[in-house]
Amino acid sequence: MANQEDIFKKVISHAKEYGYVVQSSEIYDGLSAVYDYLQNGAELKKNIREYWWQAMVQLHENIVGIDAAIFMHPTTWKASGHVDAFNDPLIDNKDSKKRYRADVLVEEHVAKIEAKIEKEVSKAAKRFGDAFDEAQFRATNARVMEYQEKADTIIKRLARSLEKEDLEDVKNLILELDIVCPVSGSKNWTDVKQFNLMFGTKLGATAESAMDLYLRPETAQGIFVNFLNVQKSGRMKIPFGIAQIGKAFRNEIVARQFIFRMREFEQMEMQFFIRPGTQKEWYETWKQTRMKWHLSLGMGAENYRFHDHEKLAHYADAAADIEFRFPFGFKELEGIHSRTDFDLGSHEKYSGKKLQYFDPELEESYVPYVIETSIGLDRMFLAILSHSLVDEELENGSTRTVLKIPAVLAPTKAAVLPLVKKDGLPEIAQEIMDELRLDFNVSYDDKDAVGRRYRRQDAAGTPFCITVDHQTLEDRTVTLRHRDTMEQRRLPIEELHGAIDREVGMRHWLKKIL
Ligand code: ATP
Repeated sequence: MANQEDIFKKVISHAKEYGYVVQSSEIYDGLSAVYDYLQNGAELKKNIREYWWQAMVQLHENIVGIDAAIFMHPTTWKASGHVDAFNDPLIDNKDSKKRYRADVLVEEHVAKIEAKIEKEVSKAAKRFGDAFDEAQFRATNARVMEYQEKADTIIKRLARSLEKEDLEDVKNLILELDIVCPVSGSKNWTDVKQFNLMFGTKLGATAESAMDLYLRPETAQGIFVNFLNVQKSGRMKIPFGIAQIGKAFRNEIVARQFIFRMREFEQMEMQFFIRPGTQKEWYETWKQTRMKWHLSLGMGAENYRFHDHEKLAHYADAAADIEFRFPFGFKELEGIHSRTDFDLGSHEKYSGKKLQYFDPELEESYVPYVIETSIGLDRMFLAILSHSLVDEELENGSTRTVLKIPAVLAPTKAAVLPLVKKDGLPEIAQEIMDELRLDFNVSYDDKDAVGRRYRRQDAAGTPFCITVDHQTLEDRTVTLRHRDTMEQRRLPIEELHGAIDREVGMRHWLKKIL
């Protein structure tokens, strides 16, 4: 575990050293759970955004994108249920004075039980070798079954208590499970209380006329209130989707783990409007479609899994997370929710305006059902960064630090390196830069020995290095070095564009999800 913690610390320090992410207002000792993206971080974020948008909007004829305001009429949040139900159950430890999410304390306890199951499974897998039947082992091994039942019972009870708002039982559960505060080690807990996560602010110049507003806690509502505007102006026919990328704000109780849980973050959401009664199929379709998008980035199928929700939010009739293996374990990266007609129906009620669709095939009007896909851009960023950072042992015994970001998302696609700063090499390097920068983000580096420059680019995540040397003067060929394989090959300057594009061009990656 310590090892995983070290890896995570390394990700955080690497993010700072290589111009990806730092804490906001660092010179004033920072603001908790708020972060700034620096030059490389802003590029990576932009590329993730673009990859999502293209996959969602450009590749789907029936999905369009919008950009709604962060401020919304306050009644929106009554209708959406956020004023009454966007709460987290919090609990304080009286000795350490630390605050926790009560549900998370219980879930972490369950995760420990699940880790024991995994240990048993991997021990048995080793013991039985090729003959190992994992499903059968899980279903029949007494110890595994006992653990599993324990875990299931706890999760069910937590879900039931939260649903019934029985906060006393949540506290009892924490006490019965002997959960201690990780800081003080004590079981001296306060009662569990609900805490609303929305940030409030005011609109208007004078105190009397000011209107209480909230910073949006999700981008989804900007889509729902515009459902008819988009449907009518775009003459959209059901099924169709509306996508949006934008900032969301949540006053998270426990904001740890770097950019995993932030107070200001960005969401990429898509609401898909469908006929009532078809939600089961569409829910499955979107689960698979979104998983395909993730897998297209090549970060390993073993690092993703679905987690179906036991405890459903007030608006959902089915929900699943796509979890990713972060350095601190499998955690939610994206949510897929079957939201029924809850949102549109509720906005109808609160606004007094009809939000219905006339279905020409059925010849009737109805409030559409909705399947939502919702992913945190910053969380996706963390998944990529933490997965990509590796220390590699080389044949000569040394190690190199390399950031193997999927090439399509890499902030800088190629670095142009003149071997020396004279003999006309910088001029050719500049000429290459000027040509490539029309399509790719490229950088120029002429400091230090070329080996050190390679290492610097590896650590920054640049997929290609182009070295200009004296032979270039004679035959206009350069060396193209590949970040992941470290393979070097000579090719004419004219072929650079094609060679780079084949690996970083978005179209080649998007093809994998068609
Ligand atoms: P969690 O259980 O982790 O709090 P959630 O279930 O409340 O998340 P949703 O409301 O479904 O999350 O939001 C959709 C996505 O937005 C999440 O899958 C996550 O990627 C992202 N997200 C939510 N809250 C945060 C946050 N505080 N910081 C960064 N990303 C977030």
